[in-house]
Amino acid sequence: MSKVYNFNAGPAILPQAVLERARAELLDYQGRGMSIMEMSHRSKEFEAINSGAEAAFKRLIGVGDDYRVLFVQGGASTQFAMLPMNFLPPGGAADYIVTGAWGEKAQEEASKFGRANIAASTKDSNYSRNPRADEITLSDDAAYVHLTSNETIQGVQFPAFPDVGAHPLVADMSSDILSRPIDASKFALIYAGAQKNLGPSGVTVVLIRQSWLDTAAKTPPTMLRYGTHAKNNSLYNTPPVFGVYMLNLVLEWIEENGGVEGMAARNEQKAAIIYQAIDGSNGFYRGHAAPADRSRMNVTFRLPSEALEKQFVAESVAANMVGLAGHRSVGGIRASIYNAMTPEGCQALAAFMGEFARKNG
Ligand SMILES: *Cc1c(COP(=O)(O)O)cnc(C)c1O
Repeated sequence: MSKVYNFNAGPAILPQAVLERARAELLDYQGRGMSIMEMSHRSKEFEAINSGAEAAFKRLIGVGDDYRVLFVQGGASTQFAMLPMNFLPPGGAADYIVTGAWGEKAQEEASKFGRANIAASTKDSNYSRNPRADEITLSDDAAYVHLTSNETIQGVQFPAFPDVGAHPLVADMSSDILSRPIDASKFALIYAGAQKNLGPSGVTVVLIRQSWLDTAAKTPPTMLRYGTHAKNNSLYNTPPVFGVYMLNLVLEWIEENGGVEGMAARNEQKAAIIYQAIDGSNGFYRGHAAPADRSRMNVTFRLPSEALEKQFVAESVAANMVGLAGHRSVGGIRASIYNAMTPEGCQALAAFMGEFARKNG
């Protein structure tokens, strides 16, 4: 079997070592004669995985017992609704800083529950940058301020987070969670679908400050209350056991490879390889994001024509690289280079880009 360089946006590449470990344990988990998928979620084996993943996530993101880690289902898209259901009070408001397609969806969903103000939007610059501090207008009565740390489709990432004063700050970190050190104590809630940087699809991680959780509405349906999952250590109902098992292996892999600092150093190096291929192409490749706001996770760029973009994708597949077509809504090329992507993969792509530009420029 020949492995490909996998630039898929999500579900996305997983660390090779994690896949090998999962394969080795698949048929017989710790001598139990069955796979982890076939065991009760109340078994001591799964309880150990569940609490191990919770503890590892806390260690990696750098929080203590004033935060809870929850594993839920429904993807980040369900969080778009669950957040306002729990924290946007009737007649209240929330502020959304919108820097791309996912933030737009989050804001639209919240507006079904109350006033979801657009505190800032960079839509008129085609979501190619983050707003400046003086472009963000927060409302006094905002129950929370929501942002998307990395916009997966446009390839725009916050290098540092805006100051929102005393308002609870909430972030969708689906596509850059644990890719770099952050000050998690600034956030009341962080959520991330696992399938970009943490594991397979099917499990969503929620980090929530306990004191904020205590203020959540008690009225939403049971499964859509953060409190239900917190009270039951994410075992209120049957959890996605295989997803949590894989998540735990990925967290172990991050810890064995230098933690978030190690990931950040490698991610900087990897992104630089591809951005250099863009910047050194004499304008053949045009990066979508403003240089200061460029994502280290999703590198987005255009070619001189759509025909050349089609040809680029076709030839990249022939060269064993998959997943490079941009999102259907924006076109162009997108290279997703999450934690598990190797520097060699980025070098292979940069070499391919150089060759393609030389032949077609
Ligand atoms: C992929 C993605 C989502 C959607 O995630 P689902 O798990 O498919 O619901 C939301 N936000 C961001 C930033 C994403 O990258």
